[in-house]
Amino acid sequence: MAAEARRTQVRAAVAEMRARIAAACTQAGRSADEVALVGVTKTRPATDADLLVELGVTDLGENRVDELAEKAGQVRSRPRWHHIGQLQTNKVRRLVAVPGLVAVHGVDRPKLVAALNRAVTDAGREPLPCYAQVDLDPRPDSGRGGVRPDDLAALADLIDAADALTLAGVMTVAPPAGDPDVAFGTLRDLAAAVRRRHPAAAGISAGMSGDFEVAIRHGATHVRVGALLLGERHARR
Ligand SMILES: *Cc1c(COP(=O)(O)O)cnc(C)c1O
Repeated sequence: MAAEARRTQVRAAVAEMRARIAAACTQAGRSADEVALVGVTKTRPATDADLLVELGVTDLGENRVDELAEKAGQVRSRPRWHHIGQLQTNKVRRLVAVPGLVAVHGVDRPKLVAALNRAVTDAGREPLPCYAQVDLDPRPDSGRGGVRPDDLAALADLIDAADALTLAGVMTVAPPAGDPDVAFGTLRDLAAAVRRRHPAAAGISAGMSGDFEVAIRHGATHVRVGALLLGERHARR
């Protein structure tokens, strides 16, 4: 598609998303500036990332480190990058080296906490905000990552105790088979429990294209939206 037509299309999608976020906030009695929109650019070209930044969506999310590192080297703008999915420990150093990395949303095991803490320390960069990911899918191996709710407090304590990391809050991906209203309601309760122990950990990263309004109703501070902004995903290379 020609660049100008793409710009027109994405501009309209961003405007509609802003309006839907504002409406969901109003309904929930919240202020729209309590919710950050993270535009998910995975599988899309760096030109789409630049377009979003130009349209005011300066927080962008990627779930694969190699793709993120490559795209971060290609963009002409300066996105605030969020890593949003499952993260392998052997990719942590490459991730931490990405310019503009502002948060990691899928921290879900002690080994990953240790690897991130070491990598950030060695890189000499400022403490890295991390979200503790919780798995609300009752099936034994849901495959999306996250700790069981019973293990969330210990994971949060571990992140908080790591010198080079800060505990930003909690994150989840709603189970595909379940009711997002139930999942995000549970997440809100879990987030409140974490915040009682760690008052600064106020973030709730929840909600995607199909369920972000439900997440906002339950207190989400960061919604991670790809398809509604940029259209259906491109096939992986
Ligand atoms: C892909 C992805 C999203 C965005 O999903 P859309 O359906 O495209 O809005 C959000 N969070 C995570 C963890 C993802 O992997």
